[in-house]
Amino acid sequence: MSGNLILPARVTPLSSAMVVEVFSSIQGEGLHLGRRQIFIRLADCNLSCAYCDTEFFRASLFPSEIRPGCGFSTDRENPVPVYEIAELVAGWNRDLPGAHHSISITGGEPLCQADALAVWLPELRKILPIHLETNGTLPEDLVPLLGEIDFISMDFKLASVTGVPTPWEEHKRFLALAAQSPCQVKLVVGPQTSFDELLAAVRFIHEIAPDVPMILQPQTIERRVSLAAHQLLEMQALAAAIHHDIRVIPQVHHFLNAP
Ligand code: SF4
Repeated sequence: MSGNLILPARVTPLSSAMVVEVFSSIQGEGLHLGRRQIFIRLADCNLSCAYCDTEFFRASLFPSEIRPGCGFSTDRENPVPVYEIAELVAGWNRDLPGAHHSISITGGEPLCQADALAVWLPELRKILPIHLETNGTLPEDLVPLLGEIDFISMDFKLASVTGVPTPWEEHKRFLALAAQSPCQVKLVVGPQTSFDELLAAVRFIHEIAPDVPMILQPQTIERRVSLAAHQLLEMQALAAAIHHDIRVIPQVHHFLNAP
């Protein structure tokens, strides 16, 4: 045999990711509230927040909706190669043309699997825009992906709700990068959050990214908003004296009984 033999692209473990679930639902947080998205929840997280109610552990099988939004799932095998996730998402997009606004890559912390995302995102982005939901602590992993992400939702972790110290330095480097793309910063606030803590965070964010929308998201406890309206309005007024774009938005998917 002679000449240049063209071999099919080799599927390496780096192009596969460990997935926790795939489903179609309504975005229940932040600026894109109400938009329908295809959610791909990836395994692993580098933090351990006290309020975390998200499943992010690796398993050999994961649930994937049988039809987008039907609420019934079938098991698929992990890890998931890029061609399989792209085929699944493209099929859902074909079945419901125009229904989905974008793909939400969420977790866990999706940047824990940045190697796989470097392969996944260019393929998925051919189908729908890519939104990344992240805890904002892995700036080095974000760098190579920036060109393939259309919107970044970055959490800013307040110690009063996470139970662990705020990762100021990581947040600083992450936000400086994320602010180069369309993005929002989301601060989950709870009954333990003091005005001093909130304002320190707002000043910090404002210095790095003066134009980025900031979302004050009251913590949801047992499916209820944990702060009274007057407390949220007081927080909003104090924060808005520093930063011009402060919005108060609770998680709304709970009201829809949506995932
Ligand atoms: S960063 Fe998100 S997924 Fe990770 S522990 Fe905190 S709340 Fe849970």
